[in-house]
Amino acid sequence: MLNNSKKISFLLMALLLNWSSLFGARSINVERIEPSSWWIGFKEPVVQVMVYGHQIATTRPELKYPGVAIRRVISVDNPNYLFIDLEIDKKAQPGQIQIAFKQSGKVRTTAIFELLERTQGSAERDGFNQSDAIYLIMPDRFANGKPENDMIPGMKEKPNRSEPYGRHGGDLEGIRKNIDFIKDLGFTSIWLNPVQENDQPQASYHGYAITDFYRIDRRLGTNQEFKELVDACRSRGIKMIMDMVFNHCGSEHWWMKDLPTHDWINQFPEFTRSNYRLSTVSDPYASKADFELTTRGWFDTTMPDMNLQNELVLNYLIQNSIWWIEYSGLQGIRMDTYPYPDKDAMAVWVKRIMKEYPKFNIVGESWISNPAKLAYWQKDFPNKDGYNSYLKSLMDFPLAEAMSQAFNEGEGWSSGLMRLYDVLADDHLYRYPMDLVVFAENHDLGRMFHFYNNDVNKMKLAIAFLCTVRGIPQWYYGSEILMDGNGYESHAAIRKDYPGGWPGDAINAFTAEGRTSDQSEVFNYLKKVLNYRKNSDVLQYGKTLHFIPQNEVYVYFRYFDDEAVMILLNNNDEQEREVNTSRFSEILSKYSKGVEVTTGQRISNLSTLKIPAKSALIIELR
Ligand code: CA
Repeated sequence: MLNNSKKISFLLMALLLNWSSLFGARSINVERIEPSSWWIGFKEPVVQVMVYGHQIATTRPELKYPGVAIRRVISVDNPNYLFIDLEIDKKAQPGQIQIAFKQSGKVRTTAIFELLERTQGSAERDGFNQSDAIYLIMPDRFANGKPENDMIPGMKEKPNRSEPYGRHGGDLEGIRKNIDFIKDLGFTSIWLNPVQENDQPQASYHGYAITDFYRIDRRLGTNQEFKELVDACRSRGIKMIMDMVFNHCGSEHWWMKDLPTHDWINQFPEFTRSNYRLSTVSDPYASKADFELTTRGWFDTTMPDMNLQNELVLNYLIQNSIWWIEYSGLQGIRMDTYPYPDKDAMAVWVKRIMKEYPKFNIVGESWISNPAKLAYWQKDFPNKDGYNSYLKSLMDFPLAEAMSQAFNEGEGWSSGLMRLYDVLADDHLYRYPMDLVVFAENHDLGRMFHFYNNDVNKMKLAIAFLCTVRGIPQWYYGSEILMDGNGYESHAAIRKDYPGGWPGDAINAFTAEGRTSDQSEVFNYLKKVLNYRKNSDVLQYGKTLHFIPQNEVYVYFRYFDDEAVMILLNNNDEQEREVNTSRFSEILSKYSKGVEVTTGQRISNLSTLKIPAKSALIIELR
């Protein structure tokens, strides 16, 4: 208890402190320390800590902790930042490190940095790979497991489910409640559009304008809830792939109000947009002007372009990704706009991740529809300029584009099924074609059901192809229940709420009763094929042999020495096709019968096969 006179002087002191801060005489403090924790035992023993606080660079940091030493202190243009390189010995013990910030021997302020022990086997974790099938979810639009987190006081955008570009309230808890739904469908991995904080005033739901790299957006959940979701997934055999964005941050990122250095982001006298011409990065004849605009121009007015040529920026981002892998237990990263930032910096990042986690996997979003241009970005491609990205997995945009047209067209020299054949024929360009992620759509493209003109048979053909072609299949939430939308017209159209994900929804498509017969047909077909793929080594890892499409039928095989699956796609809208299989004898002569895997139908004579109009046969050969 304070006596009265003490109370009064305490109040006076508090007032004085307030006034002095009003007039700018703020005391030295630490507002942020990033990362605020790190682990013992990484191959790279140094962590670079960014400290942010008023006039912090006028102090000298010191610490006393066995096995931890300050190796370097870097100050920059802005005195409100300090970068401290901490070296952590393998024998250091977990605990809280107090960093004292001193001026002429006096402690002005302190900060706590936490030293943690790594979980057993953390470095050896498997990344997602060819054995997997990925389910992509836009978290704000899947399921609202916690209506109480829809509105977070102090955050700029409020929930508004009737606004297509607004926040709808979907969250991590909604995903956690539906892990078994995703698992039963046959998926083994989940990729979430970014879950990091996006405290932007508008259209913040999509996640690609990050305002705090170390925090999950609280409308989706807490950091702890994200970790719990990853744990819950792992315990059910589902790998988590986190979306990361290094090219840009959100315009409302906290550091935008007080940048560490002028070159922290790429700045121009007036707003300068990227030309999005990714070819300039690999083109031997590209002008510097075009190239610079591609890589340094801003992705959007709300997305400042970060400068990864600044080593402090690059270190910050490298550590941020390691922090999330280690903290939450990730098994994969999907890197947004992968070819846009400095390509050498990106290669340094990949190498560092793979050094710490040799079996981890990263897929780069390289929105390039031409295989020759795309191959530049894959690990070990013998590029003329000597560039090696070290990145094995890329999004297979050439195949996605072919898929969007193939089932809509009749047969021509280079149309219809020939599009699929031709894209695979370009695989000689890739050192690791089996590591490409294959997809028909994502959160940026039109919905499959839209570009297939609401045709259930085309959907099923696409499913058969996607789940049997080489590569790692990726599916976009909701297409299993025929969610529709023209993504080229409006992004909101392809990012609708999953029916049944919100309390009080009239329809619940998470249950069989909530699905129409068309929806059930596609849902069940996908489930059959994916669950077959899940247990099929040959579909996951087998080689490919294909035959030029004839008479609107494309036949290919996935095989090992003594095992094979034969896939036949009939692209004709009306006619059943009878195929004489003698053309395939180089592989088929080894087998006498088979089973169609989606129907269980036994096939005792392989010499002629009948395929109904606009459908696929997937035959396990015996
Ligand atoms: Ca919610």
